[in-house]
Amino acid sequence: MLVQADPRQGITTWEQLDPEGSKRFLTLLRQQNIRQQVEPHLLALFEIAPDYVRRLIEHRWGFLLKLQEADIHLSPEREDLYARAKARCPDTRIWTCYDAARRAKRLPVIFQTSGNSCSKCHTLLPMRQQQHLKNGNAIICDNCDKILLLKG
Ligand SMILES: [Zn+2]
Repeated sequence: MLVQADPRQGITTWEQLDPEGSKRFLTLLRQQNIRQQVEPHLLALFEIAPDYVRRLIEHRWGFLLKLQEADIHLSPEREDLYARAKARCPDTRIWTCYDAARRAKRLPVIFQTSGNSCSKCHTLLPMRQQQHLKNGNAIICDNCDKILLLKG
């Protein structure tokens, strides 16, 4: 019943009953990036964050993990994947790091961690980086320069 109801009617009623409070909330929602900021916390609250982050990582970084696999195994599709990867990469620092390791033949350079420490050199990650990982971002370990992603 809740899902079938039109939420706009509820918002209209709310705007009439509490114009100040509703305006503040709706303005907040419209601000740039607010959804990305709020969503992980909301989902964590409902304990579906792990699955959400897993899908987010697959969506954002799946292509780079696939490229790394292809590069390591010298698969025939690797040049095609490589040609498309740069434009797809949401973070230029990560792309630069991957590209440098690829050219130097130092793959693998991407490692998946459970979130608290680097899975390659075992250095404890700063809280800021741990949080970054938990939001589905890739980070670069300050100690060993490997790219880290949260383990799915
Ligand atoms: Zn490291």
